Amino acid sequence: MGVTGRAIRLPAIGARDALRRPLADLRISVTDRCNFRCVYCMPREVFGADYRFLEREELLSFDEIERVARASVALGVRKLRLTGGEPLLRRGLEELIARLAAIRTPRGEPLDLALTTNGVALAARAAALREAGLTRVTVSLDSLDDERFRRIADVRFPVSRVLEGIEAAHEAGLGPIKINTVVKRSANDDELLALAERFRGTGHVLRFIEFMDVGTSNGWRLDEVVPSREIIERIGAVHPLDPLPPRAPGETASRWRYRDGAGEIGAISSVTAPFCGSCSRARLSADGKVFTCLFASEGFDLRALLRGGAGAAPVDDAGLTRALGGLWSRRSDRYSELRTAVTGAPRSRIEMSYIGG
Ligand code: SAM
Ligand code: SF4
Ligand code: SF4
Repeated sequence: MGVTGRAIRLPAIGARDALRRPLADLRISVTDRCNFRCVYCMPREVFGADYRFLEREELLSFDEIERVARASVALGVRKLRLTGGEPLLRRGLEELIARLAAIRTPRGEPLDLALTTNGVALAARAAALREAGLTRVTVSLDSLDDERFRRIADVRFPVSRVLEGIEAAHEAGLGPIKINTVVKRSANDDELLALAERFRGTGHVLRFIEFMDVGTSNGWRLDEVVPSREIIERIGAVHPLDPLPPRAPGETASRWRYRDGAGEIGAISSVTAPFCGSCSRARLSADGKVFTCLFASEGFDLRALLRGGAGAAPVDDAGLTRALGGLWSRRSDRYSELRTAVTGAPRSRIEMSYIGG
């Protein structure tokens, strides 16, 4: 609960940014650590033994995360997503989930409370996560081939651990499960059909993500991006697909339905068809910085406000909501729409493992 514990006064409508986009979605990174070293996200050469991860006292506490979440809900957020690094590495995550699950919208409705994970700990944790109040999970999975999975994720265990995690989540009622596959040319694009066929008819929704130029350590090249259009064409040639309308405004994935009724797939065209115009997401790093764009180079230090110091008192809940609302109102980010103009220019960018995707 907040410093004051009082209800926050609500704005007449939710916060709008400089381009009139609402704040609807908050992604909360709970750790910058991970038990995988995916080559496109945390390559071991960069994130090795010498890498300085955040110390425990640098991380926002559960109290602090809950306060930020409540402030964001007062400003219009209806969906919270826990991420990382690997969020299941944060000790006591179920307690945080229970606190966030207790938050209600101004109309008294529960929030959509999701988690993005590499899935390896799900078999053991899914039931407890559901019990704590988690609504659903997204699991990242880039290959079904054991050797390739181990190479991409740079781990020593088999892909069956992730597949078991997906099934455990399904059985625990955390569905419909979304499965995110980052597609990289010549790395795993020969598996598009195998992946689609593995999940057809299961009720899980496989979503292909274009490899993005996030961070500065993954050596991104435009010719390694497989456009979503090509992905959908390749799968549709074997299993005919029809487009589906977006489920909600600001949805990142285009949706496609198998004509034979075997379910749906999605494609996230972050590079070839950016969706900045409807982007309603803010991101909170594990150490309390708010980023209004995945490609921002700097975040707004909310932790400094939450903790006070240097003569300043810790901010109260109303002040926290004002600070977050003010930050959102000044936002004009639309990096992906401008990408073609800026790609190639040297630019510092935050890493995906820090901000959570
Ligand atoms: N560790 C969790 C996981 O892997 O699901 C959560 C954090 S991870 C940073 C969130 C998502 O970002 C994953 O689905 C991952 O595949 C995606 N991701 C990481 N680097 C990416 C990149 N360069 N392009 C596209 N997606 C990326
Ligand atoms: Fe870890 Fe997720 Fe990044 Fe892979 S994509 S290294 S699992 S944070
Ligand atoms: Fe949103 Fe930034 Fe991505 Fe555009 S580039 S969709 S503004 S996070």
